[in-house]
Amino acid sequence: MLSNKPFIYQRHTGRVLSKREFEEDVISRVSREVSKYDMIDSGDNVLLAVSGGKDSFVLVDTLSRIHDTGKLLAVTVIEGIGVLFREKEVGKMKSLLKSLGIDYVVVSFKEYYGVGMDEIIERVLEKKLTDSPCTFCGVLRRRLLNSVARELGMDKVATAHNLDDEAQTLLMNILRGDYTRLPRLYPKAPVLSTKFVPRIKPIRKIYEYETTAYAYMKGFGFQLGHCPYVDLKPSLRGFVRKLLYRIEDVEPGFSLRLVENVDKILSKAVYSLKKLPELPVCRLCGEPTSYGRELCKVCELLCKIGVVEC
Ligand SMILES: [Zn+2]
Repeated sequence: MLSNKPFIYQRHTGRVLSKREFEEDVISRVSREVSKYDMIDSGDNVLLAVSGGKDSFVLVDTLSRIHDTGKLLAVTVIEGIGVLFREKEVGKMKSLLKSLGIDYVVVSFKEYYGVGMDEIIERVLEKKLTDSPCTFCGVLRRRLLNSVARELGMDKVATAHNLDDEAQTLLMNILRGDYTRLPRLYPKAPVLSTKFVPRIKPIRKIYEYETTAYAYMKGFGFQLGHCPYVDLKPSLRGFVRKLLYRIEDVEPGFSLRLVENVDKILSKAVYSLKKLPELPVCRLCGEPTSYGRELCKVCELLCKIGVVEC
């Protein structure tokens, strides 16, 4: 039983919550978000993408309480960064999943693409490419998760993006003026290919300071190893993250309002996506690609570093 003593000051609401209240608050907000956007249908099999960090702990802990009609399966993607990165986290996640009766699979870039991130970075540096390591990692991870979900007959892929991640992504897309990508971030955006397993982000309205506190409160509190490549190249995300922290300092709740307001705008704009035809497929791998593009982003990147021939 969690204690009733004051535990956390929730800056964006101005409330002080005990552990028990905080747990209830987080679970009910996740549950509300899941039903507001019809993220999970009754009987859906959901693949949980877990890294082993605090956010994936919150994803597993909350969804295992909310979703009780379909199957939950967890997957970790080993990107192949150093030898130790992720190993400790994976061990802890494994025992948590076992205690909840959730099956667990581990997949890797190396087995799926033939190369891991360390080798990819070596090639990027060798060829003096300007692409950020995070671009490769993000694009390859998304594809791998989609393929695993499809092969295993899952209905949804749930990722552990928190509110800070979500606000950063929205702002980045606005700053880039990427109006074709922006509507796709709406939680109920239509899926543009039958080869895509719909992706959901159940904890997108929970701040990162809250996922940290929640995981710590439940005895899952430890620091994730930092990716050694994160500072290899300054990224827009890093800049936007710092900017949002500074705004939050003077205006608590700013990121939450940003996500909620963009959701409202997109709920209208997203209907334009419904008229779009099925996405074309890549001529190399047969996976979906953008309209008017012969190669998908995965093949384009792997081609740049000489892993596939194009
Ligand atoms: Zn391709």
